[in-house]
Amino acid sequence: MRYLSTRGDAPVLSFDEVLLAGLARDGGLYLPESWPQFSAGEIRALAGKPYAEIAFAVLKPFVGDSIAEADLKRILDETYAGFGHEAVAPLKQLDSRTWLMELFHGPTLAFKDYALQLLGRLFDHVLARRGERVTVIGATSGDTGSAAIEALRDRAQVDVFMLHPQGRVSEVQRRQMTTVLAPNIHNIALEGTFDDCQDQVKAMFNDLAFRDAMNLSAVNSINWARIMAQVVYYFVAGVALGAPDRAIAFSVPTGNFGNVFAAYGAGRMGLPVAQLIVGSNSNDILTRFFDSGTMAVTGVSPTISPSMDIQISSNFERLLFDVFDRDGAQVRRVLQSFRQSGEFSVSAEQHQRLRRLFDAHRFDDAETSAEIAVRLQESGELLDPHSAIATAAARAEVRPEISAVVALATAHPAKFPDAVERACGLRPELPARLADLYEREERYTPLPNDLVALQDYIRSQRQDPPQHAQRTAKGAA
Ligand SMILES: *Cc1c(COP(=O)(O)O)cnc(C)c1O
Repeated sequence: MRYLSTRGDAPVLSFDEVLLAGLARDGGLYLPESWPQFSAGEIRALAGKPYAEIAFAVLKPFVGDSIAEADLKRILDETYAGFGHEAVAPLKQLDSRTWLMELFHGPTLAFKDYALQLLGRLFDHVLARRGERVTVIGATSGDTGSAAIEALRDRAQVDVFMLHPQGRVSEVQRRQMTTVLAPNIHNIALEGTFDDCQDQVKAMFNDLAFRDAMNLSAVNSINWARIMAQVVYYFVAGVALGAPDRAIAFSVPTGNFGNVFAAYGAGRMGLPVAQLIVGSNSNDILTRFFDSGTMAVTGVSPTISPSMDIQISSNFERLLFDVFDRDGAQVRRVLQSFRQSGEFSVSAEQHQRLRRLFDAHRFDDAETSAEIAVRLQESGELLDPHSAIATAAARAEVRPEISAVVALATAHPAKFPDAVERACGLRPELPARLADLYEREERYTPLPNDLVALQDYIRSQRQDPPQHAQRTAKGAA
């Protein structure tokens, strides 16, 4: 499989190149040259198989010759064996036509583990073969940082420097990062805001000498391999509920549009995805787009579903590529003018075409809290605020011809205990394997909001090349 940039002006890459590149050189995002196709018979044959086996069948065509089949199989087995539920992504029925897919059984209790746990292992495998090391740097306001740290801890080919704004992430979120004591993990508590953290990461990427010397890399949600890994659980849910012989709707709580784009991809591959319901909080740029056909930037306001507090949905560019019939030059033009004016529109015909598949609904904090309380009463399920937006959106609008809608539970309620308790009076408890989180030793380094100080720190802490050569030699033996 070969990969193209959505802006049509970057080299066509192989899977392992796309894995390590993240963003394309023309500023675009990578997509497969074509979507692999699954026949009804092939989809039917997946029913009843374990998660890792379905993952192998779904991912093999994306990976192509980049990783040997036996290696890919082993990596997938290892990735999902560590999850806290035998089914990996279990389905629970909420009412006669609504199911909840629990995507919080990974190590950090949010759906990002399903992709990042795989990404960490793929990085190590591909880098070892190429004899390379990378330095992953990132900024986090919570969920992404802990999922990336858990995925990359103790990986031989990777050093991680994760910046969080000192004193501005929740205690659960901080501890999930800072109690990982692996020698290749470096938590930096920056004296500043989340925006300062992001600006410093950007500045380090823009310092080309530093970027090359450190071999900087990123694992943010625009990385194609993350989307690819997320396609898997849509197939898992689909076949469990009767696909290919039953059409399925999915209701997805959305920020960067990564997760719901993976559902769209599953549909392009042959899964009967009949409706995609996009749920947003009051940061509703996507809902407004699906209502009107116009994407228009406004400010961001903090909500009780902070992982969806976004101003722009970066993965939406992947859908635009299809809207413009894969014309990269047009995507580039539209996004350039979007950056200048903060607004763009699609044609009425394009908008209508999207609305055949997509619906979108917005819920403010009061509506989200009400949904948490009502679902607890109706079905005994304790939902986190992100998941509650998914179930509320599923309630709002399922097309009459559809008999099964799957709402995605993207985080465990114990990740957001204060919001959940305020909504329904119950304080969720951490699962047993994390019960001692508040007693574990923490390690992090406070640093000033200063580029030179950060770069000095990273240079001094990164594992040096002689060690690298030794490790690679050992790894290859
Ligand atoms: C990241 C995140 C989301 C949003 O996912 P996108 O792929 O950015 O749309 C939703 N819920 C939770 C809990 C998350 O961590």
